[in-house]
Amino acid sequence: MTAAELGAQFATRYHRDAAVVCAAPGRVNLIGEYTDLNEGFVLPLAIPQATHALAAIRPDRVLRVASLDRRDDPATLIDLDQPDAPVTGWAAYPAAVARALEEAGHCITGADVLVSSEVPTGAGLSSSAALECAVALALCALSGVDLAPMAIAQIAQRAENRYVGVPCGIMDQAASMCAIAEHALLLDTRTLSVRQLPFDVRGAGLGLLVVDTRVKHALGDSAYGDRRAACRRAAAALGIVALRDVEVRDADAALEQIGAKAGEEVMRRARHVLSEQARVLETAELLGTGRIADIGEVLVAGHISLRDDFQVSCAELDLVVDSAMDSGALGARMTGAGFGGSAIVLATASHLADIVEEVEARFRSAGYKTPLCFAVAASAGARRER
Ligand code: ADP
Ligand code: MG
Repeated sequence: MTAAELGAQFATRYHRDAAVVCAAPGRVNLIGEYTDLNEGFVLPLAIPQATHALAAIRPDRVLRVASLDRRDDPATLIDLDQPDAPVTGWAAYPAAVARALEEAGHCITGADVLVSSEVPTGAGLSSSAALECAVALALCALSGVDLAPMAIAQIAQRAENRYVGVPCGIMDQAASMCAIAEHALLLDTRTLSVRQLPFDVRGAGLGLLVVDTRVKHALGDSAYGDRRAACRRAAAALGIVALRDVEVRDADAALEQIGAKAGEEVMRRARHVLSEQARVLETAELLGTGRIADIGEVLVAGHISLRDDFQVSCAELDLVVDSAMDSGALGARMTGAGFGGSAIVLATASHLADIVEEVEARFRSAGYKTPLCFAVAASAGARRER
């Protein structure tokens, strides 16, 4: 939808013009899966698909929110002076953002808010963070609150943790807020320090595909908690706060100790985390020296580790990786929490069409839903557009 169309939708719904328009993108994680649970490094990038939030001040302390992606839902009224009143459905996200902003000491004005998103929901591309960040930016702009991008990311994460009840890490919100075009964001999830690494796939004659498998396996929710617990047990076996604290050169000894104290399964979960941490740093090194094509092998190694050691892949994600690699991709791996959602594929630009064809053909033969394949470029982070 164009900016003019969005503005017209706002005017139709609320009988006045929007005063601010903000946008925040979804993300894919290039490498560094489940490392954020261990205070480690992640390396996401923003995708071109974004969520827009249009807003205008109200004279009262009410937030009225509507979504063009939930056209059948009536607008929800959220009383800013009743922070404990339950808010159900998708409106829990904007309500959570307003509450987290106020809890952080920022006084928010009442507002009419309309959101509209290009980020597929529930595909592992972080439509929830895009929604939170777009709304947070719009509310800050209306309320005269001036916060650094990472500060907004932290508030959005706290909103999702505390008020929506999803125990997500900081990666999604940090990527949405802090990414810049043609770069991937190396984020230290412990210190929140960031480094922008050049990632101009097109300029390198390459393409980055996102393949949304359009499946979400029920196992995902309980498995997330299990994996969290395994990571904690592994750290406890070493007497450290988080697996992040294991140096690469000490990894073998650490894994032996974890195996002896906490058993084979916990050791394998830890082996993924430690090897993934090394892969993030290796990828960062390659990107820092302009060797984008060389990260392909690292991506595949990451997938194998997630599949075999961390065990969060699924048949559909494995099929994307196998068919992409069989048809000439440089690298491919599941991205996000797993058990469905999306995979990414890195390939030379001239191979992309063949890869999409092969992935689709193999999904057809396997009797799976048709996957959604689209090329992405590393895109700009959240911004105020008007
Ligand atoms: P992901 O972040 O991977 O897309 P989540 O389950 O974390 O998946 O977040 C998806 C939820 O976020 C949706 O179920 C919905 O409640 C909310 N959401 C995201 N974008 C929108 C939108 N444009 N309009 C309404 N709700 C949205
Ligand atoms: Mg999410």
